[in-house]
Amino acid sequence: MDTVGFIIISAKLSAMNYESELKVAVAAVRAASKVCQQVQANLVTAATLEKKDKSPVTVADFASQAVVCGALRAAFPSVPVVGEEDSKELREDEAAELRAKVAQHAGMSEADALDAIDHGGFDPAPGNQGGVNPAISVSGGTYWTLDPIDGTKGFLRGEQYAVALGLIENGQVVLGVLGCPNLDGGLLMTAVRGQGAKKLAIDGEDLEGETVGVSAIEDVAQANFCESVESGHSDQDASVKIAAELGITAEPYRIDSQCKYAAVARGDAAIYLRLPTRPGYREKIWDHAAGMIVVEEAGGTVTDVLGNPLDFSLGRQLDHNRGVIATNGKFHGRVVEVVRDAINV
Ligand code: AMP
Ligand code: MG
Repeated sequence: MDTVGFIIISAKLSAMNYESELKVAVAAVRAASKVCQQVQANLVTAATLEKKDKSPVTVADFASQAVVCGALRAAFPSVPVVGEEDSKELREDEAAELRAKVAQHAGMSEADALDAIDHGGFDPAPGNQGGVNPAISVSGGTYWTLDPIDGTKGFLRGEQYAVALGLIENGQVVLGVLGCPNLDGGLLMTAVRGQGAKKLAIDGEDLEGETVGVSAIEDVAQANFCESVESGHSDQDASVKIAAELGITAEPYRIDSQCKYAAVARGDAAIYLRLPTRPGYREKIWDHAAGMIVVEEAGGTVTDVLGNPLDFSLGRQLDHNRGVIATNGKFHGRVVEVVRDAINV
């Protein structure tokens, strides 16, 4: 093979490995996790909760999105980002103080922070092949999706939350990085399609980490399940009945954010139930992209409550899906069967 051929094949192989995407995504999520940890450490917890003052989470949300989007844009300028936040509120005159704090925590000028946040403003609606960023037609429907702080209620309680970043290509999630700054003192889970799932330190620069795998339990009655702390996000009355029907006696493991996917990926729980609480709610892509691929690459299975695959090709929402069931893959069909009988969707 001539040198040019070798270079082209090497470049293609490294593109398929997502090596550079993973490296940049991990560094970005690590940096954003640090920002969130700093903001959370400064929470005047009691006072904040009493006043129901959401501003600390707002600072961290915006700063985290600015940090991740800034890093992604610098490395992959033509790949758009679908982030949960936008800068509209931050640009208003009344938000001057908030804006200054966001810029300070993001380590950027105010103008750069606003600009970076808005890099996350891509609308991936089907048919939007130009839209705010013509790159999508060039990149063949490739975009990142980011939840800068998933589980804001957990964040405010000083408990679990996640920084979640996924890469979607033609409707398929191909890479995910989950920053879990409070899980075991802080860890990262990463997955690339076909390459397994890994646990990495939240600090430093290591990209190797250690391989994680789902629980080996085969008898569903021996399994435990995790669910939201917030009963408004998942029907906890239904999960009690479903667990009883499956013969599960273990107490539910309640934990905020996509840390639930991390729990299934490393076998802390064999099942994750996210059961719809109201008919109109549609799950958001940034709440599931990173978590889903981490569980699948750890050997598990993820569907909606009817057993359908999650469809990431429809825009910002999983419009064709209701709720989520993730398992270690050993008894997924049985769990879906019992859930379908127990709930109305
Ligand atoms: P969790 O920490 O797993 O309870 O989920 C946090 C996420 O729940 C947030 O990021 C919201 O996007 C999402 N959410 C908000 N309302 C609902 C709802 N009614 N049903 C399901 N998820 C919701
Ligand atoms: Mg979220």
